[in-house]
Amino acid sequence: ATGSLIGALVRRLEGKVALVTGSASGIGECTAKLLAQHGATVNIADIQDELGYAVCKDIGITSASYVHCDVTDEIQVRNAIDTTMVNHGKLDIMVNNAGIAGTNNPNILDNSKAEFEKVLSVNVTGPFLGTKHAARVMIPSRQGSIINTASVCSIMGGVASHAYTSSKHGVLGLTRNTAVELGRYGIRVNCVSPYLIPTPLARRFFNLDPEGADEVYSNLKGRDLKPEDIANAVLYLGSDESKYVSGHNLLIDGGFSIV
Ligand code: NAD
Repeated sequence: ATGSLIGALVRRLEGKVALVTGSASGIGECTAKLLAQHGATVNIADIQDELGYAVCKDIGITSASYVHCDVTDEIQVRNAIDTTMVNHGKLDIMVNNAGIAGTNNPNILDNSKAEFEKVLSVNVTGPFLGTKHAARVMIPSRQGSIINTASVCSIMGGVASHAYTSSKHGVLGLTRNTAVELGRYGIRVNCVSPYLIPTPLARRFFNLDPEGADEVYSNLKGRDLKPEDIANAVLYLGSDESKYVSGHNLLIDGGFSIV
């Protein structure tokens, strides 16, 4: 009860404007809702329009808007950023969260080039374009926080497919490189790295039943990772509380990656 009382009183993003890609579902949806609860105006960007509008409606149209945006298409990414600027006047927080898992196929001989490139395109080119166009509008205002959704696969091998692991290592590389460049403009760039959460993405990847009551998750018993746990990390990285944190990979994995 005390926790919710504090949450209700302290709005940590009052007056800020955020854009969250891949926010029609899963981690992105939860993040968009939490940022809005903390006073941010949020632009929801996704390719699932119906779900995206529904998230927007849940948040309330005074605090949220929806824009169709395929993160692999530079014109659409540019448009999502420009729409945010037109509607809300600025961009303080850019969350490059949209991602796909691709096929769970550990055998490289069966992996196609097309599939590999598709995963890299959404998971790495997406955050690259999002960072590029966010930086375009953040540099003149000399401030901003960019947060990429990576994964424990950003620092570990053998957990997911070759394409997914390569893509998430790429997200960490992009985060570090752009943090170095953009720091001089007061722009921070960080990433969050979750372990497994039973969102639609993870269920498709591991062929889990809808309840997620599966041996993959039984390994996690007692940890019980939820989208909220990632959203809270993004909230911190988007707020001024983290004003000296940049180039960081915030692992949210119950210690999985250190074993
Ligand atoms: P999700 O499938 O619930 O949500 C992903 C969203 O991204 C969907 O709404 C989807 O429509 C959107 N999307 C996909 N391709 C897109 C594109 N080209 N342009 C715009 N939007 C697109 O999955 P999630 O688990 O919430 O995944 C969010 C992020 O978290 C991803 O980057 C994923 O790699 C990462 N992640 C997830 C887990 C996990 O276990 N669920 C673990 C580590 C990292």
